[in-house]
Amino acid sequence: MATFYENTLQQIQRAGEIMDLNKNAEMVLSQPQRIVQVNFPVKLDNGEIKIFTGFRIQHNNAAGPYKGGIRYHQDVNIDEVKALASLMTLKCAVVDLPLGGAKGGITMNPHDYSKDELERITRTFVQMIEPFIGPDTDVPAPDVNTDEKVMAWIADEYSKLSEKNVVGVVTGKPILYGGSQGRFDATSKGGLFVLEELLKKLGKDPKGLTVAIQGYGNAGSNMANLMAADGFKVVAVSDSHGGLHCPHGLDALATMECKIKEGSVENCGGSEYQPTDGDTCEKISNEELLELECDVLVLAALENQITKENADKVKAKIVLELANGPVSADGDHILEKNGVIVVPDVLANAGGVTVSYFEMVQNKQNFYWEAEEIEEKLKKNMGKSWNNVAEAKEKYKTTYRMAAFIVALRRLQDILVLRGTV
Ligand code: GLU
Repeated sequence: MATFYENTLQQIQRAGEIMDLNKNAEMVLSQPQRIVQVNFPVKLDNGEIKIFTGFRIQHNNAAGPYKGGIRYHQDVNIDEVKALASLMTLKCAVVDLPLGGAKGGITMNPHDYSKDELERITRTFVQMIEPFIGPDTDVPAPDVNTDEKVMAWIADEYSKLSEKNVVGVVTGKPILYGGSQGRFDATSKGGLFVLEELLKKLGKDPKGLTVAIQGYGNAGSNMANLMAADGFKVVAVSDSHGGLHCPHGLDALATMECKIKEGSVENCGGSEYQPTDGDTCEKISNEELLELECDVLVLAALENQITKENADKVKAKIVLELANGPVSADGDHILEKNGVIVVPDVLANAGGVTVSYFEMVQNKQNFYWEAEEIEEKLKKNMGKSWNNVAEAKEKYKTTYRMAAFIVALRRLQDILVLRGTV
């Protein structure tokens, strides 16, 4: 099976062929510019010393400072981070941000460590990558299993090392400490906005459309809330432990509160959490959730969830990629053949990095915008990007993924030519 990075390269190549991408530009974009791997010791609460491995991979900065999240997960590896860094370059280009692409991560299961340990791990990681990051060079952000608390530690540690206050070194910070209004649910808001545009084009009303959501972290849980408020019927959700299927629709907010208490959404089917209507909820596995009969399948967990093994079993008519790389290249071909519309990650989840960009701008000017202003700017940018992608789709008679890649690659190619790189 092709690796995640090989998959991403294949997709760049395919889009490059359709649009006749300059071969030199393709060559430049087929390698990350810098790979930083660090191995560092941290003292655990019990006195034991453990070595951790972390990465920061800077894919391309032709369009502006490197930008992209940092994830904490036991499966973090160099191939994955390379793929995610390339997707960030493309994502920023699809939504026309003056930013490049990077990604980072530490190979560990954060649930195995105490809060104090996580703080020490984060701060030591920052000490190791400090020469490579900064508000004008590379600006990390939250990703899988990292949140505003982790971002505050990063900004604080970096500021100490710099002997001045440098909140602009990361985005996704708490509002009290240089964060932006609207950052916490920006990924989901952007995704919902794009989905609504697609439904308009298809002449469908969101009201009553059934939705299954894989992943109940920041993106998945906020998406469930926003979709329910918008009239969609969220019938199934899942997290890394398992899933819950409530055919009559579930209460997204109560499920979020329950997950914090009970550890997993799979334990949230009781009548104290869900509306009953005479119908009951049942536990399902993550695999079963992907194959449920529904109108929209939202993928908000990890990469490689729909592959050639299960793509034929997907019954949803629309797949929205809130996660990065949740559909493999092979899986994508099968969905395309079966007429399933895939809204690709580089567009569907770009709301997050868009508001991160607004956070960078606010940090630079040290003047902060109201929530309404952020929302308006986000909608405007997502709307413009949707139109560009929809136009490219018509022009090249291709999928939304290829159209989004074409929009991104065209912009990157133009910048590389202007800068005299190719
Ligand atoms: N981790 C998010 C992503 O994959 C956000 C990146 C950012 O805000 O820099 O898009």
